[in-house]
Amino acid sequence: MKTIVLSLSALFFLACTTTPQDRPDNKDFSQAVDKYLQELWDLNPGFAAHMGLSQYDDILKIPNKEARDKDVEFAKKEIAVFENFKDEDLSFSQRTDRDLILNSMKRDIWENETFRSFEWNPMMYNVGGAVSIVLESQKKDLDEKLKALSKKLLKVPQFYQVAKSTINRPTQPHTQLALKQSQGLQKYLSGEVRGLVKKSKLSSREKKTLYQRIDASAEAVRRYATFLKGILANPKSVGGFRDFRLGKELYEDKFKFDLQVSYSPEQLYKKALEAKEDTRSKMFELAIQLYPKYFGEKLPPKDRQKVIQNVIDKISKNHTKPDEFVETVRKQIPELTKFVKDKDLLTLDPKKPLKVRETPQYQRGFAGASVDSPGPFDKARETFYNVTPLENMTKAQKESYLREYNDYTLQILNIHEAIPGHYAQLVYSNKSPSVIKSIFGNGTMIEGWAVYTERMMLESGYGDNSPELWLMYYKWFLRVVTNTIIDYGIHNLGLTEKEAMDLMVNGAFQEKEEARKKWTRATVSQIQLCSYFAGFSEIYDLREQQKAKKGDDFNLKQFHETFLSFGSAPVRSIKKLMR
Ligand code: ZN
Ligand code: ZN
Repeated sequence: MKTIVLSLSALFFLACTTTPQDRPDNKDFSQAVDKYLQELWDLNPGFAAHMGLSQYDDILKIPNKEARDKDVEFAKKEIAVFENFKDEDLSFSQRTDRDLILNSMKRDIWENETFRSFEWNPMMYNVGGAVSIVLESQKKDLDEKLKALSKKLLKVPQFYQVAKSTINRPTQPHTQLALKQSQGLQKYLSGEVRGLVKKSKLSSREKKTLYQRIDASAEAVRRYATFLKGILANPKSVGGFRDFRLGKELYEDKFKFDLQVSYSPEQLYKKALEAKEDTRSKMFELAIQLYPKYFGEKLPPKDRQKVIQNVIDKISKNHTKPDEFVETVRKQIPELTKFVKDKDLLTLDPKKPLKVRETPQYQRGFAGASVDSPGPFDKARETFYNVTPLENMTKAQKESYLREYNDYTLQILNIHEAIPGHYAQLVYSNKSPSVIKSIFGNGTMIEGWAVYTERMMLESGYGDNSPELWLMYYKWFLRVVTNTIIDYGIHNLGLTEKEAMDLMVNGAFQEKEEARKKWTRATVSQIQLCSYFAGFSEIYDLREQQKAKKGDDFNLKQFHETFLSFGSAPVRSIKKLMR
């Protein structure tokens, strides 16, 4: 017995000594990063402003060829610089930073030389974010903000001139959505933004100038919208629409750059198909268990699909009223915060409260709710939970929407978007000492975390293990899985709208209205819809591995806090850092 114990500990000792030790930060690398960032901000003032560097607030980058050439030149130069730093010269955290920089620079070159979305995606030309970032800054008073805005707006007409001359054979869905957003932006400029000038203490002369610039900007946006309308009416004027499906090659490239996961597109697709079957059978078990409660003596139908659908239909009737949607979300946030605290799942910073607000007009059109958080250099700016009120919808559309976001799924939405999902993760990310990880947030890790917290909250007893909540959770998770199946299918297998609708409505029990919106989203985005399932899978597996390894010493809160402490890095890099 004794020999065995001895040899085990000897093995353990060996294992320890062969694990590489972290090194102190390399100063040359840190300097290279500082230099790189300075140039990155100068070349991308909009990105800098979004990250909270308000000295860039008054600059609007003109998206012309000259600017793109400079970007490529910069990327090539920096790749040479950072490829020179080898693993053995860097701390663990710096290795991740180097990989993130290289990935971003290589992606920039690929975007400019191969992907070229600036030609075919008219949605790229939207100054709404550039305007709002100035107005929402906490570092300046209203008058200062408006002065910066005044300078920035001067460039808007030129910005849209360039946009019109750059667009070449756009895709139809991007053109359609760009038109819608431009119309929202026009309203925002001539409504909300104009209103702020009135409230300011600027001199009447300054006000007059600013009004003129706002009006000229709104006019430029209006002309852009007219231009887009013209394209939609007569696509031949720009050489016809191009296919919005990427095809295998571009898809694989973008998958690699955007997800940074350990799976290939085919592997992830297969994983999703398996998860779909597994989730559907769990839903069936829950539906059978719930059947008597909702249908009394009546026997469940033979068809599994119908059993699940019948129970979901009953449960989905529990939902809030259309005009109370935003308020219902607002009320749930403190409840989630309390549960996370009581169950000791994660420390939430009480100094960073989450404010629920109605989504600003120009941002509407995508999802129903999302977190809008400050960048790493603007920690004072508030984090908002943007919730889009149910307006401009028919009565039937509202009912369909509310059935989808019923009393159960709305809780899961709030877990995902707010607490302990995106909101909590972003607070941690901004605390992280690595600027690079804060700015090149890995979407797979970010979405994966949010999806992971849904499962984790339920596993921790949120909702008292109610079978209704679990069933609706699985329906929600099935949507995540289906996102991957659809995204892959559209861009690689020629999946049609009809087939996609069938996968969502029958395969994943989604409401038609929600499914239709998802189809639109899937046609204007690529890969992003896969990030949820890819990230979830990697994080969940990592946790289970750690649990198995640490046994009784495993502490869930500690795991969460360590995992989040590295910032929004790819999960595979965090894995290395946690070792
Ligand atoms: Zn109803
Ligand atoms: Zn999300």
